[in-house]
Amino acid sequence: MLWKTDVGRFTVYGIEDGWMLRDPLDFMPDSDPAVWSRHPEFLTDGKLRVSFGCFLIVSPDGLAMIDTGAGPAPTSAEFAAGQMPAALQALGVARDDVDVVVHTHLHFDHIGGDVLAGEAFFPSARVMVHQAELDYWFGLDTDAGVRVRDHLGPIGAQIEGFDGDTQVLPGISTTETFGHTPGHVSVGLISEGRRAVVSGDATHHPLQASHPDWNIFADLDKRQATATRRRLFDELTGSGTYLAAGHYPRPGFGTVEVHDSVRMFVPAPVTDL
Ligand SMILES: [Zn+2]
Repeated sequence: MLWKTDVGRFTVYGIEDGWMLRDPLDFMPDSDPAVWSRHPEFLTDGKLRVSFGCFLIVSPDGLAMIDTGAGPAPTSAEFAAGQMPAALQALGVARDDVDVVVHTHLHFDHIGGDVLAGEAFFPSARVMVHQAELDYWFGLDTDAGVRVRDHLGPIGAQIEGFDGDTQVLPGISTTETFGHTPGHVSVGLISEGRRAVVSGDATHHPLQASHPDWNIFADLDKRQATATRRRLFDELTGSGTYLAAGHYPRPGFGTVEVHDSVRMFVPAPVTDL
């Protein structure tokens, strides 16, 4: 999946690095089977297709990648990844052209594309990660922590920790949306009065617009994740701000609106490439 749309003077490209098929109740243990049964449009043979989406923002002041997908990995009937580099090539974007990479957090499906064959995939980019996220993963004495540190080793000198809400490029800035992980951020875009939010893993599925208390198995602090998700959807509802959500069914780009007293995610038209 590769699509584009404009947000003011920015061009936003949605890139699907891969996807996985998951049982919806395993993926979202808090979710309600009765609700899924009323929404067959989200399931294929009973499975949820979870996209690994990342976003390229082309701005007048530079190119920013928001997350980099899951990276090369063995493909199976229920998992595919590593398609981001071919998407950039199709767009005519060289690896050197990317000025900054922002990571919403350091889970494997968001940092996999940072390193290819042991080398930085974006050699000229600053790589921005919230300091609380770095502190968590670099202090984690588990296999998961070791995997993250080993993976990021080749780009250690490019990584910049930051605190609070921080400008990435003019009109592009981070917002703390903690809960899924301790230093999780979303990324806001504003240009010529148009706004968008790349939400990272603050939300994983459109049904969370009406069920913000549905956490996913990987939300590390479920109470905080729910509070953050409620705040995100409250801020978006009726605002006209676009939500760009990498794990949503494609294109994962739309607005949050209330129809017949139900809050829902409404996909916006994008140009398929
Ligand atoms: Zn994720």
